[in-house]
Amino acid sequence: MSWKKELFHILRTPPLLEEPMSRHTSIGIGGPAECLVFPETCDELRKVLELVKQFSLPFFVLGAGTNLLVRDGGIRGIVLSLSSLCSGYQFSGRTVYAGAAVPLPVLVRKSIERNLQGLEFAAGIPGSIGGALYMNAGAYGSSIGELVLQVETMDYSGNLKVRTRKELDFSYRWSTFQQEKIIILGGLFQLSPGNGAELKELVRKNQRERRSKQPLLPSAGSIFRNPPGMAAGKIIENMGVKGLMAGGAMVSPEHANFIVNVKNATASDVLSLIEVIQKKVRSELKIDLELEIKIVGENSRE
Ligand SMILES: Cc1cc2nc3c(=O)[nH]c(=O)nc-3n(C[C@H](O)[C@H](O)[C@H](O)COP(=O)(O)OP(=O)(O)OC[C@H]3O[C@@H](n4cnc5c(N)ncnc54)[C@H](O)[C@@H]3O)c2cc1C
Repeated sequence: MSWKKELFHILRTPPLLEEPMSRHTSIGIGGPAECLVFPETCDELRKVLELVKQFSLPFFVLGAGTNLLVRDGGIRGIVLSLSSLCSGYQFSGRTVYAGAAVPLPVLVRKSIERNLQGLEFAAGIPGSIGGALYMNAGAYGSSIGELVLQVETMDYSGNLKVRTRKELDFSYRWSTFQQEKIIILGGLFQLSPGNGAELKELVRKNQRERRSKQPLLPSAGSIFRNPPGMAAGKIIENMGVKGLMAGGAMVSPEHANFIVNVKNATASDVLSLIEVIQKKVRSELKIDLELEIKIVGENSRE
């Protein structure tokens, strides 16, 4: 039996074949995933991983797709969504356990409703808990790694593990997970008592500030990491490329470290803008801008 047929036997939710990733990324770009799966139990997930091993399939873990550029040829093999397996959260005293698929803004809102503080910096970050842990998402001088007590993972052999803060490293947009083949299933976070009304007001203020500085058009968040002591947005702005277009993609006039999908942009459009920016910054300032977004998939499909 082919691996795709087997997936239909294994999974209660039928996998989506040749599913356009443009439907699963915030920038609205991306060729098809050969097979997008939504396991409902750890047992189903293990069986998916067994097939990955047996057929040597490429395997990619998708979060909310908000820091992701999928190339136009799409992603071969299996793309995993945890939306049917890891979408619950539970508060206990001053801690909260949240599954990997829980949207960060939802967890922020629920924490504030309980007068718990710590997560409010993340109100405007549209990713999932899994993606936030993987990227160590942050804003306003705080990042999610600082709140972590434990992270629950499954390796590609199907082994579950609970890892404590001591066993994990987090730094600027980086976590231990980026050097491992691992599926993040959820995290336990330490919060502290706060004043709900004040926290709500702080979130509103931050949101207003974001709306005034960031584009409203679809994007994948910051394209480049900030070089030490510098803001990538400012560097790019000084190159005079705000508003520059390639096909349907544009360097945002609001924030130069964002590339927006103006109309039917392709991944190649975005990649060519990235190249223009990197070349300009390298030749004029001798700075190599590193990518913050993750670029996956293939340029074309035979
Ligand atoms: C408008 C806008 C504003 C943003 N502002 C900020 C900001 O202020 N600060 C900030 O840090 N980021 C920001 N981002 C970027 C983005 O929201 C974060 O990086 C977020 O943490 C990505 O999470 P995600 O679930 O969307 O991950 P995805 O984009 O789906 O994936 C990103 C990477 O994480 C991996 N991954 C995702 N989930 C898992 C999992 N469960 N297990 C293993 N690996 C996983 C993927 O394989 C991929 O390599 C912004 C994005 C947008 C569109």
